[in-house]
Amino acid sequence: VKTIGVLTSGGDAPGMNAAIRAVVRTAINKGLKVKGIMRGYAGLLEEEIVDMESTSVSDIINRGGTILYTARCKEFTTAEGQQKGADICRKHGIDGMVVIGGDGSFRGAGKLSALGINTIGLPGTIDLDIACTDYTIGFDTAVNTAMEAIDKIRDTSTSHERCSIVEVMGRNAGYIALWCGIGNGAEDILLPERYDGNEQALINRIIDNRRRGKKHNIIINAEGIGHSGSMAKRIEAATGIETRATILGHMQRGGTPTCKDRVYASIMGAKAAELLAVGKSNRLVAYKHGEFVDFDIQEALNMTKDIPEEQYEIAKILIR
Ligand code: ATP
Repeated sequence: VKTIGVLTSGGDAPGMNAAIRAVVRTAINKGLKVKGIMRGYAGLLEEEIVDMESTSVSDIINRGGTILYTARCKEFTTAEGQQKGADICRKHGIDGMVVIGGDGSFRGAGKLSALGINTIGLPGTIDLDIACTDYTIGFDTAVNTAMEAIDKIRDTSTSHERCSIVEVMGRNAGYIALWCGIGNGAEDILLPERYDGNEQALINRIIDNRRRGKKHNIIINAEGIGHSGSMAKRIEAATGIETRATILGHMQRGGTPTCKDRVYASIMGAKAAELLAVGKSNRLVAYKHGEFVDFDIQEALNMTKDIPEEQYEIAKILIR
């Protein structure tokens, strides 16, 4: 491999810039040339390709978002689109690629590998929903952003002796909800992986909490369950306690990355460039059991994971 490309794809996540910076600088250190692909696979097919030097990634480690922009691209899910992508890589002398994104992006990365472009994936998503890894770039910043916002909601919720439903992101995964539930000391945590839809039980707990003298009742609801607004109306009607819903939304995807996201993204980015430099392809960089490792992309995509039962059990005790 002589020249590598780097792109970000799917949803953005704080720390992606730190990963890009590490890919670029490590690759240059190993004697490789680097090109940045703008707007994910969409930009690849449009040949939005720029040369990257060490200074191209100056002043970005502290910035949220991704300097390469990100996009979703339907065309790249087709065999023709993938072939076109691989041909464009060859035309620009790109024989290696780092793809920073989620599962969908890794499926695309697997296809590029099969077409002869050495490709390495890096897990970039705030949702933590990538099975092969215990850490994804952006999760730490996102949970800290959500936690700080929920602390603020708790203040006003207490003053008004309200019930608050706070909906956090995570798509179909409940990791952000679970961490905020524990970190914010919420009264209830609704996770897509565990919630049985028993709203009466939820209402009974709110009434019981009020009887025990609790001034607020914070319910963390995961995006995968949703319907926070209508849930709030039903809870208010059933309990007589004023209930408000707040959907935190896209603020969770932005902001300056935490130290952990900067450092882990840097290590992962460096590892991706190192793997390409020694001729590896079709691998995903992951963090598993306290170590940075890499997996075959197809094997990684076939893995499944669930929220840690122990953490959920602890959360259930602490919220009482
Ligand atoms: P996030 O979970 O953060 O949204 P993601 O990578 O899972 O990230 P997707 O929208 O699923 O986000 O995928 C990003 C892009 O990857 C798609 O727009 C498409 O171009 C490409 N992609 C997705 N699935 C495939 C596939 N099966 N084959 C080839 N490319 C794919």
